[in-house]
Amino acid sequence: MPTGGGKSLCYQIPALAREGTGVVISSLIALMQDQVDALTELGVKAAYLNSTQEWQQAREVERAFLAGELDLLYVAPERLLTDRCLDLLSRAKISLFAIDEAHCVSQWGHDFRPEYLGLSYLAERWPDVPRIALTATATAETQVEIAQRLSLQEAPHFVASFDRPNICYRIVEKKEVRRQLLTLINEEHPNDSGIVYCLSRARVEDTAAFLVREGVNALAYHAGLKAELRAQNQARFLREEGVVMVATIAFGMGVNKPDVRFVAHIDLPKSVEGYYQETGRAGRDGEPATAWLAYGLQDVVQLHRMINDSMAEEFHRRNQGRQLDAMLGLCETVSCRRTGLLAYFGQETNACGNCDTCLQPPESWDGTVAAQKLMSAVYRLWRERGQRFGGGHLIDILRGKLTDRVKEYGHDSLTVFGVGADISEQGWRGVLRQLLAQNLLSIDTQGFGTLGLTESSREVLKGERSLMFRRETTVASKPGRKTAAQPELPPEARARFHALRQWRAATAKEHGVPAFIIFNDATLRQVAIDIPQNADDLRCISGIGVRKLEAYGDALLECIAKANTADAF
Ligand code: ZN
Repeated sequence: MPTGGGKSLCYQIPALAREGTGVVISSLIALMQDQVDALTELGVKAAYLNSTQEWQQAREVERAFLAGELDLLYVAPERLLTDRCLDLLSRAKISLFAIDEAHCVSQWGHDFRPEYLGLSYLAERWPDVPRIALTATATAETQVEIAQRLSLQEAPHFVASFDRPNICYRIVEKKEVRRQLLTLINEEHPNDSGIVYCLSRARVEDTAAFLVREGVNALAYHAGLKAELRAQNQARFLREEGVVMVATIAFGMGVNKPDVRFVAHIDLPKSVEGYYQETGRAGRDGEPATAWLAYGLQDVVQLHRMINDSMAEEFHRRNQGRQLDAMLGLCETVSCRRTGLLAYFGQETNACGNCDTCLQPPESWDGTVAAQKLMSAVYRLWRERGQRFGGGHLIDILRGKLTDRVKEYGHDSLTVFGVGADISEQGWRGVLRQLLAQNLLSIDTQGFGTLGLTESSREVLKGERSLMFRRETTVASKPGRKTAAQPELPPEARARFHALRQWRAATAKEHGVPAFIIFNDATLRQVAIDIPQNADDLRCISGIGVRKLEAYGDALLECIAKANTADAF
């Protein structure tokens, strides 16, 4: 089930209905506090045990658990498997085990955590306690592996649609990426909460500093920052409005903020699963949101190099290469992005109408001859082994540019010199990138990153295979429609909505919780439109349950009445 689809309810409700305490196993220690806060706010008796607690606090949680006072207990897998914790659990009634982020058990997946492998022990030790495993991201293969490794082969299997229709997927060619990002933020998402993903820590810091200089309320997050600063930045992102978090993928797993309006990748993600999970953090409230990715030739080269340089076993490297190929396929597709994305998870759909290729169908062109020219040039240069000739030099030769380097090596005498003057430099970069993406060219990452031919190159060179490419657009690829902005409120409701948000901010501060835990924007918007007069009216609004009505009903009515009076004057 996708992020925001209601996975937690699948174990929270049974845990409440059954006798005993539901034990939730989650790798997301940093988020346990927020999960428990949100449940407490709803009147559920929840607690967690993890390494961030004082001894005293942990003892109190253990006592409450043993006394049968807890509905839900959150524990990290490495802690759960300690003797002390197993002993604790065996001394009280457990209603169920819920294994969250279950894809972490898959060695083939993108987010393997060895401590998850020990969780099959739960089946041995508590054979009569129901177990449920949940994930927002798993291909068919990963689903099988989860069932095997957690001894859940006999369990029923529920797969919801992976589609997140409110997210508009866009993938653009990387040029001046920081400028492109700034334009996205300023033109489409000013003052919105968003996440910007980068590949490296240095890039996170550079990008965050750049955005701050340009007046964006941006923070940085990566594993190299002090734990204190990380926690502080995460808390600000969750609690304040309109913060842009620039981060490595260390940030965001399970981040429960519903009103993230955009997720931008300024480097290519390593897998479709990772991309899906990261972009899934946008628009969890169901309101329009943007998933924007900029990628270029350099990303392809860099990721290939990272895979080849890694110390991982051969089969892991092959697996990573396969995952990268699928990601590149998604970037270079001329059909609907969503169709491609969902197909990766085994789900069939029609063109969506809410991605860049649907909104502005890209032109495709027959690139067979261009590919042959480029491949011939690669072949000629490859024979000069030991020299380092990158893509730029290759393109100079094809376009007939007499650079110093071309002259130095006498490459102007090659037969391919100047045969590609009809295609722009940007066009050639596109050809090169798409050939690499389709494994029709290889990069020798052991040596100098020299380009080489592959087995499949032969078919193209011999004219046995024709190639269709995505045409590089020269205009900024903002789709020609209103993108993910806040839905329009009727003008007369705006003042009320504003007053409600102010009340919410003050209340959240008072309670020390993020604003969205009190009420989300969609609920406040509905209150502002409906102008409820009493508790019965409030009860009809989505997001206002019994507990919230009791806690905030009067305050909401008072706030609405005041805003209306102010309006009248
Ligand atoms: Zn589409």
